[in-house]
Amino acid sequence: MTIQENISLKPFNTFGIDVAAKYFARFDTVDALQQILQNPAIKGYPLLILGGGSNILLTANFEGLVLKNEIEGIELIQEDAEHVFLKVGAGVNWHQFVLYCLAHDYAGIENLALIPGSVGASPMQNIGAYGVEIKDVFHSLEAVNRADLNTVVFYNEDCAFGYRESIFKNKCRDQFVITSVTFRLNKVPEFKTNYGAIQQALDDMGVPKINIQDIAKAVMQIRNSKLPNPKEIGNAGSFFKNPEIPLADFEFLQHAYPDIVGYPIAGNMVKVAAGWMIEKAGWKGYREDDAGCHSKQALVLVNHGHATGTSIFALSEKIIADVHQQFGIYLHREVNIY
Ligand code: FAD
Ligand code: NAP
Repeated sequence: MTIQENISLKPFNTFGIDVAAKYFARFDTVDALQQILQNPAIKGYPLLILGGGSNILLTANFEGLVLKNEIEGIELIQEDAEHVFLKVGAGVNWHQFVLYCLAHDYAGIENLALIPGSVGASPMQNIGAYGVEIKDVFHSLEAVNRADLNTVVFYNEDCAFGYRESIFKNKCRDQFVITSVTFRLNKVPEFKTNYGAIQQALDDMGVPKINIQDIAKAVMQIRNSKLPNPKEIGNAGSFFKNPEIPLADFEFLQHAYPDIVGYPIAGNMVKVAAGWMIEKAGWKGYREDDAGCHSKQALVLVNHGHATGTSIFALSEKIIADVHQQFGIYLHREVNIY
């Protein structure tokens, strides 16, 4: 296996940050991955496992090994009257996998159309959109443990999935290389259209009888109209998570800000729209050199051209401090910082 040295990571992250990796290697099988990890030259170096690079902010040269996951393949491994179980290579592009499911009438991830990145990264933050999270269809995954190179299976209950969270994002960060994910998709769809603008988009499309293909089409339309395309302007999607606060605190804030946006969730809590607070605090469209806050979607930080990772990180610090001062709520970053 070739391990390259001093490789620019600019083409490998959607923020378009120009830093270098000390070592860089690609793998497309589990064997190849294990061989790379056995190489004495990289022993003890930090590891960055890379999919599509759409949820990372690189703030410095990476003084370790960047491992680019290119394991392909979609395999039907089990089927019953209601479900199919698909084992998917971690390097498969997420949206291509969604398209595969749509073509085969496998339901469950149509609301997650057009999310950038790889299948292998999808459990990392339990990707979600429009009222669906992958934990709803996740069966298990296989990962190689960096410490002993053994393959380990994690089932749904092992992954500590939460809102844009999992065990891989925190406790086990950079320890396990996810090599495949097995999903349990539904043969009989359960439509989820009550979220955001989906129903409106379906009405506008004049759909007489709803199906998963139409839902995906509606989601793609909304996303294409709202979200900045990383090919046109560097970004990693939502930079911050929507904070969850007790209902009583939310009601208190409502006195001062009657138009504050929040959604009730379990446990007498409310999920507050971070984008609304950032916009209210005046950051939407803000730009400092090439680091900025997007002009249409305040939750998204952008690279207007030659921003450094540190300048985008510094901007995020200012936003966090300002939102905290104004609303008493501390924003947490969703993007993984390296
Ligand atoms: P990367 O950015 O390459 O990696 C992200 C993290 O996962 C890193 O810490 C990395 O080390 C780790 N990782 C990657 N692959 C593996 C692996 N095989 N094994 C172990 N660890 C791994 N996210 C949502 O949840 N919902 C959305 O609707 C959404 N919309 C987005 C829209 C835009 C325009 C953009 C740019 C991003 C959006 N995102 C969204 C964020 C992002 O697409 C997802 O988090 C996606 O899952 C990241 O995949 P990736 O392959 O690019 O991961
Ligand atoms: P939106 O529809 O304008 O809604 C704004 C926020 O309010 C969203 O973040 C969403 O929270 C929440 N929300 C809206 N309707 C809700 C409902 N019925 N119940 C509970 N919460 C509701 O958001 P958007 O920016 O256009 O994004 C649409 C979807 O795509 C969202 O699910 C969003 O998370 C996802 N998305 C994610 C990223 C990313 O990088 N993570 C980037 C773009 C879009 P949630 O975020 O919790 O869903």
